Formats: sequence, structure tokens, C-alpha cells
Amino acid sequence: MKIVIAALYLMVNINVATADNILGYDKESSNVQRELEAQMDANIDAREMDEWLRHLSVLPHHAGSAAGKKNAEFIAALFESWGYTVEIAEYQVLLPTPKIREVKLLEPTQFSASLTEDSIAEDPSTSRREHLLPPYNAFSVDGEVEGELVFVNYGIPEDYELLERHGISVAGKIVIAKYGKSWRGIKPKLAGEKDAIGALIYSDPADDGYGAGDVYPKGPFKHESGIQRGSVMDMPTYPGDVLTPGRGATKNAIRLNREDAPTITKIPVLPMSYRDALPLLAAMDGEVVPAEWQGGLPITYHFGPGPARVRLKAKFNWDMVTAYNVIARLEGSRYPDEWVIRGNHHDGWNHGAADPLSGMVATLAEAKAVANLARQGHRPQRTIIYAAWDAEEPGLIGSTEWAEDHAADLKKHAVAYVNTDGTSRGFIYIGGSHVLERFFNQIIEDVDDPRSELSLKERRRAYEMIFGEDDATKTEAAERSDLRIYPLGSGSDYTPFLQHLGIASANISFSGEANGGSYHTLYDTYEHYTKWSDPGLVYGSTLAKVTGRAALRLANAPRLPFEFNGFVDNIAKYVAELQTLADEMRDSTTKTSRLIADGIYAAALDPTKTLGAPAENEPVPHFNFAPLLNALGSLQSAADDFDTAVARHQANSVEINRLLYTSERLLTRDTGLEGRPWYKHHIYAPGFYTGYGVKTIPGVREAIEQREYEKVEPQIEIAADVLNLMTERIKLLADRISHQ
Ligand SMILES: [Zn+2]
Repeated sequence: MKIVIAALYLMVNINVATADNILGYDKESSNVQRELEAQMDANIDAREMDEWLRHLSVLPHHAGSAAGKKNAEFIAALFESWGYTVEIAEYQVLLPTPKIREVKLLEPTQFSASLTEDSIAEDPSTSRREHLLPPYNAFSVDGEVEGELVFVNYGIPEDYELLERHGISVAGKIVIAKYGKSWRGIKPKLAGEKDAIGALIYSDPADDGYGAGDVYPKGPFKHESGIQRGSVMDMPTYPGDVLTPGRGATKNAIRLNREDAPTITKIPVLPMSYRDALPLLAAMDGEVVPAEWQGGLPITYHFGPGPARVRLKAKFNWDMVTAYNVIARLEGSRYPDEWVIRGNHHDGWNHGAADPLSGMVATLAEAKAVANLARQGHRPQRTIIYAAWDAEEPGLIGSTEWAEDHAADLKKHAVAYVNTDGTSRGFIYIGGSHVLERFFNQIIEDVDDPRSELSLKERRRAYEMIFGEDDATKTEAAERSDLRIYPLGSGSDYTPFLQHLGIASANISFSGEANGGSYHTLYDTYEHYTKWSDPGLVYGSTLAKVTGRAALRLANAPRLPFEFNGFVDNIAKYVAELQTLADEMRDSTTKTSRLIADGIYAAALDPTKTLGAPAENEPVPHFNFAPLLNALGSLQSAADDFDTAVARHQANSVEINRLLYTSERLLTRDTGLEGRPWYKHHIYAPGFYTGYGVKTIPGVREAIEQREYEKVEPQIEIAADVLNLMTERIKLLADRISHQ
């Protein structure tokens, strides 16, 4: 009892003592820092951002295009004019562009898909089609195939389980899948693994077309001709240039032969509009799909196969192009060898106003404001590097090649990487390394929502309390003092920094109040963005205030603002999830086997329909989670020791900061994840079968999910080892801070 009271007393003291201080700063330096931030805010100019947005989105500016290169030069000139040391880092990368795209319905009726998007009078940008790439999926293999169609819903693993229950195989067929529910590259990957010969992906109007709201130009949702472009490279294996995994794609780099590049799809794939998909789906027959599979087109959807028979032809120019990364550096005044990195990509699929320019212009506004401070004598103490990446869209290529090229230096010098990309309006959305959870919570306490009197944190909390995905989330939002930052999977340029190099990272945007259907279509224009996504760029300029604080606080902190109790709390949540996952799988597997054995499925299912019982699985054994649970216990006590130490001592030193910022590296292992050694982080990875979707503690989680039972306990040992290294580091830090 006595111990508990002492602990409480101590906690109260800590809160009082540090309530107003920025993590890693004392009272005086916090005041100085907040003063600088107020000056930075005053320098962020939404009208100037609007001018840049208009200018950079005038023409399609994909990687390898003339406008893309011009945009890189324009951005470089801006940085230079503000006093940055600028370099355009060039990489030679393989980038397929479409040569032949054909989708023809051959039987029972005939139809040729247009595969093009309409210009519309209300949006002049949609008529500026100079160098416009037609809709395609980058890194589809070349191919010409003919076969019956099978409708596979979203084409994710559970959809194939249902098809199997209906006795439907996609072997030798062409699948047609809806966009959504997974990253798009998963769809041809899974279809190929199931021996399909081709894949079509279309946007169903129920998801982001007229079923979701008014379509463009009346509303922001998808025009009937809108086609989502995008990469289908196998990024969960490795992102970046397909020919140079693990090394920078410099001029003389050793390259794979294209035939040997494992991240190019195995089957040809093309994207479509719902206008083009309608005649294909209408020509299909076979059993009617379940209600959850039915989409928004005015037909009844059928599984097939056939009788719709389709020819799909996709041929590409497999050209080498130059990717232009703009790297702008502001040397730190005190610790030039410690680097804070801020990045956003500059290439877009078309005009790319939302993706990526909305984030790019916020990054520019921030960089200009930071440079202004430097000119007034407040140069950041650590080096800040602003990066405008090229070739993100085809597969995080520019950032990955730069990170691979500079891997050794980055591991040594990089303090953190903060990413932005497309942003709109609504609620602040922060994903990242959990050692930065407290740090980011303080920032969103300090920045106000532009449409209310509330802080960004209060608004986000209110959102979670009302719209949180389940009751537990809603309750937690009301009760937990810090809002959780979400774990990062993939989908933007943080991936090489976090998951390949082990650099603490974050990804920040606003969203939630501007849903629409312009993503990766011809309609992602200045007109669409400024009308529907963020009129006046008020959220864009707020984003600059958030990320500007992140960059400056990291750059100026006497002690780097890493914190471990938030980290432990999140890891504990993931470990509990893993145990629940195993328990629930065990129960449902046993139950299903019993229902099959007892003939219950046979008795319940309609004998005139094709739906059969699910496949029977091996019983799920009990796993020993003790190594992870023990590791968690030690980690918790180390994190407590660290908090006690920093509450009592203002200690900081180059050595302490180095131990802090390299702590994230300890969560990586050189050998990487099983089957995908490029991914070295053992806490965060994109799912092998979800793509962008994160898998936390991925070695263990994916072994359970994929029912590779013999791998589960070895993976638990590995995850425990990784956490134990982190525990040792935190203890060492607590010790150094207490005895400096
Ligand atoms: Zn983007």
C-alpha cells in the first residue's frame, strides 16, 4: 500500500513539474521554443501555398515527364532562394508506361472498353492533357490473355475463401475485382497465386461513386469515367526500383534482369471505370453473389465464371527514366551531424493537386518559415533536411533509392523522419513510431483547429469518442490522456526510413471531412481540390504548423523528445491482440470442424445452391507467449525508470541523444522478416496480404494468420529478443541520465 501511495505522489509531482514544458526541454528553453513557433506560424501564408499549388498542378507531372522535371527544378529554386543548400539527387529507375491497353468483351455480347476519362467543361484542368499518362497499373507484366470472367469482390483472401465454398476456381480465368479493402497490388498478386491469367480492377460506384454521394463536378465523388491509376508492384516484398533491391539505383548500380525482378506482377492487370465495367458485369452469369458482394451498379452481380469472355491486352514501354529527388539542407548550428528529415513526394499520376501537391505546398510553406527563422538568427540546432521525392506513385521509388543509397549515413545521423503526402480537411491523423506518441500529443495540444476554438487534440478526441470504430476505442478516447498514434504499414515515403533503416518516423495529414473519388484519376485537379478538399488551404496551413513544430522541436531539443511509456502501452496492446487472435482462431477452427463433422452445415445449407461448408483447418495449438510477456514486463519497468530519471534530472549530452535516436534501430534485425529480408523492422510492417494495412509484431501475427503454426513460437522468441534489446537501451539511458 505504501509503495502505491509513493508512486502516485511521485506521478503528481512529475505532472506539476513538467506540465508546461515541451518534452526534452526545460522551462526556459520551452518558452524560447514556443516563441519561435509563434514566429513560424506568422510566416505561413495560405495564399502563397495556393499559388504554388496552382503552378505545380498545371500539367500532369508523373515521374519521367517533362513537367515532373520542371516541378523538381521549381521546388529546388524555391529552397535555394530561402537559403538551403540544394541538391537534385538523380536515380536511374525502370518505369513502365502503357503502350497497348485493350479490354474487349467477346461473348456473349461484344463491347470494347474505352479505358479513357472524359474532360469536363466545368474543370479546365481536365482538358490539359499534354503528356497525360492514360490509366494503367504500373508494374503489371506485359500480356495478352483471353478467358472467362470471375467476379472476386475485392479480391482479398476472405473473398477467395467464399469462392472456394462455392466451388469456383479462378484458374485459367480473368478476375474482375473492386478497388478497395486492400492495397491494389494485392489483387493481382493473390489472383496470380490462384492461377488466374489476368486481372481487371474497377471502382464500384457504391464505394466512391454515385452510391457514396454526388459525382464530379456536382460533388466530389467519382465521375462515371474516372479510373484509379496506381502501382501494383509487390511492395510488401520490397518497394523502390524493381531492379535494384537494397541498393541505390545509381548509374552504375548492379541491376537485376527485368525477367528476374520479383516485384513485377505475374499476370497482366488493367484498371477500369464503372462505366466500362458495367457491360462486363452485366454479361456475367452463374450464381448470384451474396448481399455483401453486391455493388452499386444497376444490375444483379453474379460470380461467373462466364459466360462473359474477355480479351485483356496490356503492353508497356519498359523505359529507364531519371527520378529527381530535391534534397534541401539547412545545416544545424550546434549538432550538424544529427539530421531531422522531412519529406513529401512531388510526382503525381496526373495533375496531382491533392496527391501529392496538397502536402508538398504545406511542406514548402513550413520550409520557408523555418528558413526565415534561421535568417533572423534562430538557425535550428540540428540539421534539417527537406526532401521532395520523385517517383513515389509507381512504388516509393525516389525515397527508397535515396534511403538505400545513403543507408550507412542515415543509420548514423538520422534522428527522425517526418512524412506528409496528400491532405484534406477534418481531423489530424498521425501515424508513427510509438516512441514519438507523447511528442506528437504535445504538438496537437499546442495547435488549434482552424474551424473551431479547439485544439487539434480536442477535436480528434471528440471524433474518436463519437465515431471511434468500436466501443473500446470510444471509451479509451475519453479516458486515455494521450491519443494513440497509429502504427505505420505502408503507402508513402516513410517506409524505407522506418521499416528498412529503423529510423523513428511519422506520417501526418488531415482527413475525415472531404471524402471523394478523385484519387489517382484525371479529376485530381486544382479545381477539385480547392472546391471540395480544403478551400482556402486552411487545413493545409495548419498541417505546416504541426509538421513545422515537429521539425523544429526535434532540431532544437536539448534532450531528444523520445518517450517509452507510450511505446510500452502500445506494444502491450499488440501482444494482447496476438493472444486474442490465437484464441479466437482456435475456438472458431474447433467449432467449424465440429459443425462439419456433425453434418450441421450440410443440414443448414440450401441443397439447390452451390455454397458448401468452409474448408476444414488443422486445430490451432496453444502457443507459449511467455517470452513476449516477460519481455513486456521488463520493458515496462525500464520505461518507468526512464521517466523517473528524466523527471529528476535535466541531463542531456550528445551521447544521451545518440542513445535515444538510435533506439528505434534496435527494433530492426539485419536478416529482416522471413521471406522479405528488405523489411527489417520487427514491430511495424505492411501486411504481406494487405499491402498498405499494417501488421504489428508482423513475424508472430502473420505466422498465426497464415496458420504456419510451427513458426509462431520461434517468431515469439525473436520479437522478445528485439524488445529485450530495447529494454537494455532504455535502462542504459535511465542510468546515464541519473548519473551524468
Ligand atoms: Zn501520394
